[in-house]
Amino acid sequence: MPNTKEINSFSKTLEDLVLISGLSGYEINVRNYLKKYLKKNSLNTTSDVLGNLICTMQGDESLPSVILFAHMDQLGFVVKKIENNGFLRVERVGGIPEKSLASQDIVIVNNNNELIKGIIGNKSHHATKPDEKYNVTPIKNIYVDAGFKNKSDVLKNGIEIGSPVTYAPYYKKLSNNNVCGSSLDDRAGCVVILNVAISLMKLKKRPTVHIVFSVQEEFNLRGILPVINSLKPEIAIQVDLSLSSDTSDMTDTSDIILGKGPCISLFSFHGRGTLNGVIPHKSIVEVFEKSAKLKKINLQRSVASGILTDASYVQFANQGIATIDVGFPMRYSHSSREVCNLNDLIDLKNLILTAINKIDKNFKLVR
Ligand SMILES: [Zn+2]
Repeated sequence: MPNTKEINSFSKTLEDLVLISGLSGYEINVRNYLKKYLKKNSLNTTSDVLGNLICTMQGDESLPSVILFAHMDQLGFVVKKIENNGFLRVERVGGIPEKSLASQDIVIVNNNNELIKGIIGNKSHHATKPDEKYNVTPIKNIYVDAGFKNKSDVLKNGIEIGSPVTYAPYYKKLSNNNVCGSSLDDRAGCVVILNVAISLMKLKKRPTVHIVFSVQEEFNLRGILPVINSLKPEIAIQVDLSLSSDTSDMTDTSDIILGKGPCISLFSFHGRGTLNGVIPHKSIVEVFEKSAKLKKINLQRSVASGILTDASYVQFANQGIATIDVGFPMRYSHSSREVCNLNDLIDLKNLILTAINKIDKNFKLVR
C-alpha cells in the first residue's frame, strides 16, 4: 500500500498540473512546469518543433530502447466568432461531449497568457419549452458569456478569433484517495511518468528510456510521431486512462473498477473513419504481467472499442515498434469532472518501473 507521504506528493503534483490550462497546440505552460520539475531533480530535457518535451535517460545500449509517454495537452475549444454583443462562439477541439456543456465554467487564455473567466450559457429555465427540456444543445448553438459588453470589449481584453478555451481548471480530493479534476486525462499520466523518471535515476541495469510528454493527442493523436521518428525506440509504453466501469451507467462495459489497480489494454479499436487501435505486443504484455505478479499489484485488463490513443500510430513507425497502452481507471472521461484514484497512479508507477527493469537480453522483439 502506498504511504501517506507518497500519496500527498502525487496529489500535490497532480493538482499543480490540473490547474494549468493547456489546450492541444497550446501546451506551453504545462511543458514549462514539467521542465522545471525535472530540472529540480537533476534531469535535463529537450523540446522539438511541435513542443514535445523529451527527457532521455541513457542505459545499457545492448538492450532495446524504450519510449514512455503521456500527453500533456487537454481537450477544449477555440474561439471562432466574436458577436457584436460580446458573446463568443466556439469550435470543439477534441472529443468534447456537448451534453456536459450547459452552465459549464470555462477559461479563455488571452494574448497575455492570462486566464479570462467565462461560462457557457444555458437558456433560462422559465423560458424553456417542454420539447427543449431533454435536448442537448449542439456546439453551433452554444455561446460563451465572459461578461463582455461588446466586441471591442472582448478585443481589448486580448481575446481574438483562435484564442484557446478549456474547462475552468479544477481539482479536489474525494474520499478514499479518489480525486476529481478537470484534466486528469492525461495530467494523471504525466504525474505517473514524471515519478517513473525520478525513480529510474536509481536503477542501474536497464535499457535507455526516453520519457516524453507529448502534444496534440486530443486533437489528432499524432503529435508524438516526430519524436518516434527521431529517437527510433524499439519499445513504446503509453500511459493514459482506462475506462472505469463501476458506475451504474457503465456496468455492461467491462470489469474495470476504480481503486482496484492499474490496467493494461489487450485490445483497443476505433472505427468511424479512423480504423485504428492497438493489439499489444506479446513480449511486452508478458513483462507487465510478470511485473504485477512480482510486486503483488492487482492488474486489470482492458478491452475497449471507441477508444484510441496515439500509441495506435506509434506502433507502425520505423521498422515497427513493440507497443502497449497502460492506464489508470478513470470515471467520467472528457467531462470537466473526471475522477481517478491516487493509489492506482502510484501502483501504475511501480508497475512501469518494474517492467522497465525486466526488459533484459531475453526480450523477444520479433513477434
Ligand atoms: Zn488521454
